[in-house]
Amino acid sequence: MNIFEEVKARVSARHVAENYGLKVGRNGMACCPFHNDKYPSMKIDDSHYHCFGCGAHGDAIGFVASMFGLGQYEAACRINEDFNLGICVDASISEAEQAEISRQIRKKKKITEIKDRFGIWKKTKTDDLLECERLIEKAEKAVMDSPDPHVVVITGSFVYLMHIKAIVGYWLDILCFGTEEETKEFFMTNGKEVDRIVANIKRAGNDILGRCRKAVG
Ligand SMILES: [Zn+2]
Repeated sequence: MNIFEEVKARVSARHVAENYGLKVGRNGMACCPFHNDKYPSMKIDDSHYHCFGCGAHGDAIGFVASMFGLGQYEAACRINEDFNLGICVDASISEAEQAEISRQIRKKKKITEIKDRFGIWKKTKTDDLLECERLIEKAEKAVMDSPDPHVVVITGSFVYLMHIKAIVGYWLDILCFGTEEETKEFFMTNGKEVDRIVANIKRAGNDILGRCRKAVG
């Protein structure tokens, strides 16, 4: 028997749930801890729990996993410890289970890596766009201060900057204040576009600053 089978053979789902605070009535009904349950809609017996309200369903190990946000293996170990079942854990894990556990660990690591990469991307693009925003402001000011602003204002670069200014502001809002969902969506749809626009803004901004300098000089 592996640890999962052994745990379930030794303690009932109901006994486990009650140990972690679930109040079960004589009819085997309890208020579901997995949704906002006013009247008991969870049925729990020796082997399983089932909620007629939210559909939560599982065995003793599943209950503990959901309750404490654990993986199946961690939940089984927790029951083993909390109930002093004394199941020898290492010996009870089969090779397939070991493989599954390391697969889960690799998956978690991978997700963390992706999250880290995304965080770096977000930080870099925010910095780039902030720099663009400053450059646009600087260009605008240079035009205002220029002895002959009209000459600069009619150039394509200035028209472009005035048009793109709002987009930069909007993107910065998403990157700085957006929810995780919104920033991810932004990454998916505009990820490549950002680099192109940043390059265009730098080119246009420097073009304007150059023209302004020439006008002064
Ligand atoms: Zn429920």
